[in-house]
Amino acid sequence: MAKIKFEYIWIDGYKPKANFRSKTKIIEMDSFDGDISILPEWAFDGSSTKQAEGNFSDLLLTPVRSYPDPGRRDAFFVLCEVFNPDGTPHESNTRHGLKDVPDIWVGFEQEYVISLGGKPLGFPKDGFPAPQGPYYCAVGTGNVAGRDFVEAHLDECIDAGLGMSGINAEVLLGQWEYQVFAKGSLKACDDLMISRYMLHRMGEYYGYKIDLHPKPVKGDWNGSGMHTNFSNEPMRTKGGKKMMNDICEAFAKTHKEHMEAYGPDNDQRLTGLHETQSIDKFSYGVSDRGASMRIPASTAKTWKGHLEDRRPASNADPYLILQKIQKSLEKVKF
Ligand code: MG
Repeated sequence: MAKIKFEYIWIDGYKPKANFRSKTKIIEMDSFDGDISILPEWAFDGSSTKQAEGNFSDLLLTPVRSYPDPGRRDAFFVLCEVFNPDGTPHESNTRHGLKDVPDIWVGFEQEYVISLGGKPLGFPKDGFPAPQGPYYCAVGTGNVAGRDFVEAHLDECIDAGLGMSGINAEVLLGQWEYQVFAKGSLKACDDLMISRYMLHRMGEYYGYKIDLHPKPVKGDWNGSGMHTNFSNEPMRTKGGKKMMNDICEAFAKTHKEHMEAYGPDNDQRLTGLHETQSIDKFSYGVSDRGASMRIPASTAKTWKGHLEDRRPASNADPYLILQKIQKSLEKVKF
């Protein structure tokens, strides 16, 4: 029998910016094959996470998906949903409201800033580095900062079985991006959440903070977004220019609803500058990085494939993003 460590991970009740919380349960067993049905529910003190009052504070963690944890011996991540004592989903439990649509494929482009001493890594103690321009997809000391951290995080994500599909240095010094892809909307969101959890934990080992704010540095510096690429079966197999335009037009009608779910402080990022459309406008176009929705050139070639919603902020809740995307897609006649 081995003592296996299960890290129960959940989202707290802080607003507008929720945080990860987690605690370890040790269970003695021969081995664990990923079957979460054998994992028990576990109570926690919701009064310490802004999820309950002190006099009625026990909430329940229900395991919903597990991943191997490459950072610890004999360990697994256990993603959990939070439930009230009466069995209803807690209001902070946004995952519960997302219907799993297996035929929706999602690729998230998660941008973030590695932060040290309240500034992006690589920024001088006083003032600013040279203006942005040389940092995007760069190599070399002074051009990028934090590559050792980024590589370590990538390896852990791959070893955990996440659908990592790439990394790159971003436009702001100390800013990076990784891409994570999955088939099935719920799986995609779960994978993203675990990759974010690992960012924060890896940051502890390096003494870095992970800044997911959509406008980490004021002024003429790029913000951080989470472009969300999506497709469904008809988009991939039937396609057509009309279908892609119909989808964009449907999204134009629900723009405001989407923006309410695409992350706090996103208005500071979506200004119409720095490869964004302004927050109160919706536009779309082939290869257009100044649009709300980009029709990638690869999609326009055959009019089959995915679309890129460029509006979500780096700090957005993926379950809310996909809820909105799925709702808008339901309005399209495929
Ligand atoms: Mg990017």
